[in-house]
Amino acid sequence: MKLILLGPPGAGKGTQAQYLQNKLSIAKLSTGDMLRAAVASGSELGNKAKDIMASGGLVPDDLVVDLIRNRIKQPDCANGFILDGFPRTLGQAEALDKMLKDQAMEIDFVIELKVDDAELTQRISGRYSCEKCGSGYHDNFKQPKAEGVCDECGSEKFTRRADDKAETVAERLKTYHKQTAPLLPYYKGHGVLVSVDGMAEIAEVTRQIDDIIKTKEKII
Ligand code: ADP
Ligand code: ADP
Ligand code: ZN
Repeated sequence: MKLILLGPPGAGKGTQAQYLQNKLSIAKLSTGDMLRAAVASGSELGNKAKDIMASGGLVPDDLVVDLIRNRIKQPDCANGFILDGFPRTLGQAEALDKMLKDQAMEIDFVIELKVDDAELTQRISGRYSCEKCGSGYHDNFKQPKAEGVCDECGSEKFTRRADDKAETVAERLKTYHKQTAPLLPYYKGHGVLVSVDGMAEIAEVTRQIDDIIKTKEKII
């Protein structure tokens, strides 16, 4: 199964990608996570991306396209993958189409998570994640089962993203509407777009996504 999760910052892409990765045993490819790792390591890519990410803009297409091109060739992607946060521009979508075609692969579904801007701001301001394994949490909507302890790995260290502050969020939403929203008609035209109500609670969004995936599993 090859899936793209498409939606504005804070829509729940990472949360649902984490679920799908476990359920389907396929790789989760998050360009945001890859870029944050590059910034933390101080690599050349990280140095190029750092200020752009902090300002809420997009890292140039060629850099993220190269990241994904190298990543989908890895053995753990042979069974499928979930793209979280990529593509984000029409240029990236076209580059992805070409690289998939070259490898005789195709996307099964582009799943749009529909969420209002006001809700996104709330979600992002309460977001934090496990420093060790990256599992995502929220101050109000998704707390660990045992307070202060990661459900997945037991770590007690958590972190908040530098770009999750109110000023940057407004800029990131603008960037989404201008540069990423045009991907919706693009994928609709390709017949692979399906939309879910991302305003629902986490388990309900998961249920809607499961229903979509099942339609394909029945055919295969
Ligand atoms: P969110 O989960 O809030 O949507 P991400 O973690 O996906 O945010 O991305 C964080 C930042 O990393 C973005 O604001 C952008 O600067 C950069 N980034 C991530 N993915 C891409 C991409 N595909 N193209 C360009 N920039 C990207
Ligand atoms: P994205 O990857 O699209 O930026 P995340 O998956 O990181 O979004 O979710 C943003 C925040 O909102 C996280 O703190 C997450 O726990 C929380 N969250 C995700 N989905 C929902 C939902 N359906 N309802 C309420 N909170 C949610
Ligand atoms: Zn953890």
